[in-house]
Amino acid sequence: MHNPFEMAQQQVAHAANLLGLDRNVTEILLHPTRVLCVSFPVTMDDGSTRIFHGYRSQHNDAIGPTKGGIRFHPDVTMDEVKALSMWMTFKCGVVGLPYGGAKGGVVCNPKQLSKGELERVSRGFIQAIASIIGPEKDIPAPDVYTNAEIMGWMMDEFSRMRQSFTPGVITGKDPIIGGSLGRDKATALGCVFTIREAAEKLGIPLEGATVAVQGFGNAGRYSALLLQELGCRIVAISDSQGGIFNPGGIDPKEAVNIKEKTGSVIHFTDYFSDHTRQITNRELLELEVDILIPAALEDQIHEENADRIRAKIVAEAANGPTTPEADRILYNKGIHVIPDILANAGGVTVSYFEWVQNLMNYHWPEEEVNSKLEQKMVEAYHNVYRMHQEKKVDMRTAAYMVSIARIVKAMVARGWIK
Ligand code: GLU
Repeated sequence: MHNPFEMAQQQVAHAANLLGLDRNVTEILLHPTRVLCVSFPVTMDDGSTRIFHGYRSQHNDAIGPTKGGIRFHPDVTMDEVKALSMWMTFKCGVVGLPYGGAKGGVVCNPKQLSKGELERVSRGFIQAIASIIGPEKDIPAPDVYTNAEIMGWMMDEFSRMRQSFTPGVITGKDPIIGGSLGRDKATALGCVFTIREAAEKLGIPLEGATVAVQGFGNAGRYSALLLQELGCRIVAISDSQGGIFNPGGIDPKEAVNIKEKTGSVIHFTDYFSDHTRQITNRELLELEVDILIPAALEDQIHEENADRIRAKIVAEAANGPTTPEADRILYNKGIHVIPDILANAGGVTVSYFEWVQNLMNYHWPEEEVNSKLEQKMVEAYHNVYRMHQEKKVDMRTAAYMVSIARIVKAMVARGWIK
């Protein structure tokens, strides 16, 4: 397992060197401004008390308040949260949002918590980090294993503590309490816009293009559904329990139904006696497909398997799925990687739209949200692509270069650096 924070630091340092940045300036970018480490008690259903541990890392607020999700996962570590907060800064920078990056995480397994316990963990975490978040300070959102319902509890808890309705403290809420229309699909839709632009550049028709999706959470499942609508053939899907493969195509709508019903897409083969068979997550990544979408966790494509990746486009819906060593291998193989900080920026972009709508108390129709998202993603893709061509660097380095240049400008404008 690679340390994600070291991975993030390597990525930033590499791009900063190419930009000829002063070492001290690079140093600012290599560390979060603030990391809060919390422990809080939660009453469990059986009456016992359990202590939960969590983190909130705020990386850089030169451009505006910090922004980024909260993850609930048993493997959460401080270094992972620090890396994720760093990636958020550069993600917001690539799409030009007025935010810096942050991320939170609670070490827990939500699959083993009752709904009541999950709610108490969510409220407990917000109480623990309340002093450093707020609509003008740091705005959380959903991430791995958190969703609109959890955002609702968190917004409620913060609003109760403040004794005033504060929807702008968190995004990804249900629309009835100030969530934006289109937020649920936004990460995937943004990712699909970048895939569409990349496919055009590479001359790959989307009609009939084969797709493998690793991870079937919010980003993975909507990406599969949206790409199917564009005529792609989804040949493989997986989740944490394993994957399914059918060269003739899998209907992602059925996979969603089966995941809802049984807890995993792997049970697809029990329901459909077609040519679908089970595969491992590892096998899925190595399939010969046009488009591979890692939409699960970090460290999936590394020096051991990068050479066996056969996709033409790798669109990173997940954060940090590819290590720097693997990046070099994929680049030399001519694989077009749409890096996480670009490919999955649609989520935070619509989070930004949600926050804007909350601040003005006026809500936009879904078409308006989606068309503004499309504009941002297409522009960001082309900015990165241009840098990639001009500087002859891989797409990730290009994305960091675009983003770092913006953040440095803000730090100069604020007088942090001369
Ligand atoms: N957790 C998402 C991400 O990694 C969304 C963050 C947000 O909406 O603030 O980009």
